[in-house]
Amino acid sequence: MQTHILGFPSIGKRREQKQALESFWNGALSVDALSATCAELKERHWRIQKDAGLDYVSTGDFSLYDRMLDITCMLGAIPERFIPCRDDAPADRYFSLARGNIGHNIAPLEMTKWFDTNYHYLVPEIDTDRPWTATAHPVVADTKQSRELGFSPKPAIIGPFTWLALAKAPRTIRKWARLDDIVSVYAQLLKDLAGHCACVQIEEPVLCTELLPEDAGRSFREVYAALNAAGPKLMLTTYFGGLGRNLQSAVGSGCAVLHIDALRGRKQFDEVLNALPGDAALSLGVVDGRNIWKTEYSAVLPLVERAVAALGKDRVLLGSSCSLLHCPVDLAEETALPEHIRKRMAFAVQKCAELAALRAAVEGNGADAAGAQPDEPHPDRCVAAVRERVASVTPDMLARRSPYPERRAAQAWLKLPPLPATTIGSFPQTDAVRKVRLDFKRGIISEADYVAAVRREIRDCIEKQEQLGLDVLVHGEAERNDMVEYFGQQLGGFCFTQNGWVQSYGSRCVKPPVIYGDVYRKHPMTTEWILYAQSLTKKPVKGMLTGPVTILCWSFVRDDLERSEVCMQIALAVRDEVQSLEKAGIRVIQIDEAALREGMPLTRDEAEIYLRWAVDAFRLASSGVEDSTQIHTHMCYSEFNAILSWIAAMDADVLSIEASRSGMELLDAFTDVHYQGAVGPGVYDIHSPRIPSEEEITQLLRRALRHIPEEQLWVNPDCGLKTRRWEEAWPSLQHMVAAAARVRAEATRR
Ligand code: GLN
Ligand code: ZN
Repeated sequence: MQTHILGFPSIGKRREQKQALESFWNGALSVDALSATCAELKERHWRIQKDAGLDYVSTGDFSLYDRMLDITCMLGAIPERFIPCRDDAPADRYFSLARGNIGHNIAPLEMTKWFDTNYHYLVPEIDTDRPWTATAHPVVADTKQSRELGFSPKPAIIGPFTWLALAKAPRTIRKWARLDDIVSVYAQLLKDLAGHCACVQIEEPVLCTELLPEDAGRSFREVYAALNAAGPKLMLTTYFGGLGRNLQSAVGSGCAVLHIDALRGRKQFDEVLNALPGDAALSLGVVDGRNIWKTEYSAVLPLVERAVAALGKDRVLLGSSCSLLHCPVDLAEETALPEHIRKRMAFAVQKCAELAALRAAVEGNGADAAGAQPDEPHPDRCVAAVRERVASVTPDMLARRSPYPERRAAQAWLKLPPLPATTIGSFPQTDAVRKVRLDFKRGIISEADYVAAVRREIRDCIEKQEQLGLDVLVHGEAERNDMVEYFGQQLGGFCFTQNGWVQSYGSRCVKPPVIYGDVYRKHPMTTEWILYAQSLTKKPVKGMLTGPVTILCWSFVRDDLERSEVCMQIALAVRDEVQSLEKAGIRVIQIDEAALREGMPLTRDEAEIYLRWAVDAFRLASSGVEDSTQIHTHMCYSEFNAILSWIAAMDADVLSIEASRSGMELLDAFTDVHYQGAVGPGVYDIHSPRIPSEEEITQLLRRALRHIPEEQLWVNPDCGLKTRRWEEAWPSLQHMVAAAARVRAEATRR
């Protein structure tokens, strides 16, 4: 029985890749030195896999920036706007696609979440019908190199259907018409790989979604017949879910091996076993590539045994469920975690070892393969009071006292003007603020000094907002390093790693908090700062909280409790905070749910189940207040249409959303569902340093008024301002407030 992983994180246990990339971009490192660091990391990672006893090591999992981009470059599918970069050095051209090119003033490829993970890939753009010029893929050289060093490489490439399904193209271009050209480039790549490896991992996670056209089945079989003819044995690799309606395409592909995510696709396991053709092997993804927990062998061994019984040992492989890209590198780097938590964890290095141990267990020489020892429950993991509270949540706790129109009337006391102007929460995080937080964390300054410094920031922020003439003010979030970590640090059930970094995109890494036990609030988390801000102004200050779904989605979550249950625990903690704020006199409260949409599973059925509990969690968090208290929520993305009715069901009084880049087009959908609440469609893009003019914001607001009645419209930017400098935020907000005043005057004149 062979073992393998689908990919190892490329960043390095000390984020060496990040440092090298950023030094290269700064001009401090040569392209050769960058390549040398990458070569070292690749070899180190191959050795880890080999030493763990895996039969293959993964190549092609290491990308300079992004694996989708690597395929885009191989195909030569470079959008026309990059033509001015044609004569630049290859590395510069590559990074221009990823990061834009300031000299030529070219925007980068768009970036978006890789399925339902927190990894972002660069979205291919097909903007021409002209033929592309293919180029070599770095996986060929890496595979040769790996072979020469004595490893047994398994190159990993993203497959043509996934690449095309995720590519965007204007309506005038039929992207699927490109399939034949694309396939011939893939066939050449496979030929180039042929002599250097025994098997190629060709990834089609799109088979676990509903993104393929219904009639893709035939072309899928034809394309894979062509690819199989190219030479090396193919492992058709799927992950992040079951195969659903694409099962026949997958088993009929003619590939020598089919890899399935046996964890997320468990329900379909037997169906896959039965459908697998007689000569194909099955790779079982049984070690979770998306969490940080040890594999519970007793839960996965029965699956492996069933597969072995049905197919025979030689036709079963054991693998990670997906690439280990989504989990941190090495648990050995963690020296400060409580032992009772640490001993239940496995990062990428440890997950490699688990696969070898699992094989040993199946093959009967696994005396020491206990890995998933049934451990004695720790009191933190099951806090009776928390369990009881979740169990006794009643339907009335999920609903505001009165329906929206009555609440609206009850909130009139806030005496807000029409088209009230506000912001999303954070203000520019200057180097000074960051230093204060860091100094406090490192014990360099006292708590009293820290509080004084944050208060100065808050005072400054309130003064600026008064001067700008905003209507609902915020405290500016100077005390927050991160909108999830800030809350996690104060809640029971969370812990933090020192080096648990995961690549988010390119050189950017995140270190998600870990939810290991039952979550509960120990004490008020935000009231002190918000009350201080409110003490400085007569205008209402909006209390700023992160919502339960976002806290859940941006953490590593325990695997011994349903996610929905964990989410309800967090929701109760947030509810407590909402009520503390209300009691203290803060009567406008925003609960951000920036991650609601990205946490959505990939198939409609599962998405519906998720949305039901996610919306309930928000309602539980937000509805314990008086009608006269105004609840806001914020989401920073604009693909709403499919879930707008769910967003309406969240029943917030005010919803702020990203809208400027789509020019308010998305508001059509709000008209269609008769959205009742107030809406603040973002009027300028905070991701860009560009300062919007008063005129252009005015135009956007006038356009918004065609979709949203005047009494429902708010005025705000697309998202928080923490990544902007004051030099940008200040004039932008001035223009925003002036535009609001203008449109307000026009509206009241009518
Ligand atoms: N309140 C947060 C902020 O302004 C919201 C951030 C977000 O939506 N990602 O920074
Ligand atoms: Zn946002």
